[in-house]
Amino acid sequence: MYIIKTPKVIRKLFPNYLWNKSRKKPYVYFTFDDGPIPKVTPWVLDTLKSYDMHGTFFCVGDNVRKHSKIYNRLIAEGHSVGNHSYSHKSGWGSDVEKYLDDVELCSSFVQSDLYRPPYGRLKPLQAEAIRDQYQIVMWDVLSGDFDQNITAEQCYQNVIQNLKPGSIIVFHDNIKSFVTLKEVLPRVIEYCQSRGLSSKGIRYNRVKKELEIA
Ligand SMILES: [Zn+2]
Repeated sequence: MYIIKTPKVIRKLFPNYLWNKSRKKPYVYFTFDDGPIPKVTPWVLDTLKSYDMHGTFFCVGDNVRKHSKIYNRLIAEGHSVGNHSYSHKSGWGSDVEKYLDDVELCSSFVQSDLYRPPYGRLKPLQAEAIRDQYQIVMWDVLSGDFDQNITAEQCYQNVIQNLKPGSIIVFHDNIKSFVTLKEVLPRVIEYCQSRGLSSKGIRYNRVKKELEIA
């Protein structure tokens, strides 16, 4: 069970998480979780490049360790990156210390102020500690590309029926999602471009933000 469009009530319960960006600007924010891995991530990069779009890649630290060349390509091509933990632990099933160690270990491979919890699951104490160092980035549209029980057409509809300017949309650059993603991503990009929407990487600078507030 998963929810495609994040309900307002959930967004209001967690106002410190980032659910979407400005609704008034002509941008959407494609995000890709779980890479970087060979074949899939380079295909995503080639596709984004051919349409002149950018995204945010929430990287698993262990994958960056194994595939640092692909990670370097992400950075070189101007995409944003975020921490998605080192070993893709679910927050609900892990004790706080061990979970935070996993996030910390990822940070030696992924330089970013952004964090997305695997499965979107965090315990309150984990969230509190992570927020000291990161902007926690959630989403308002979950494509469902990982769901083997839906067709690519359904996945495409999930996205286009729910996206708005400022939407943060979740895709996955992992093996399981690739068959669907391959069909859906170019179509979503073309849909966005036909409506004058472009995809940007999420930029956030925690230190600068604190200075602005102070
Ligand atoms: Zn993930």
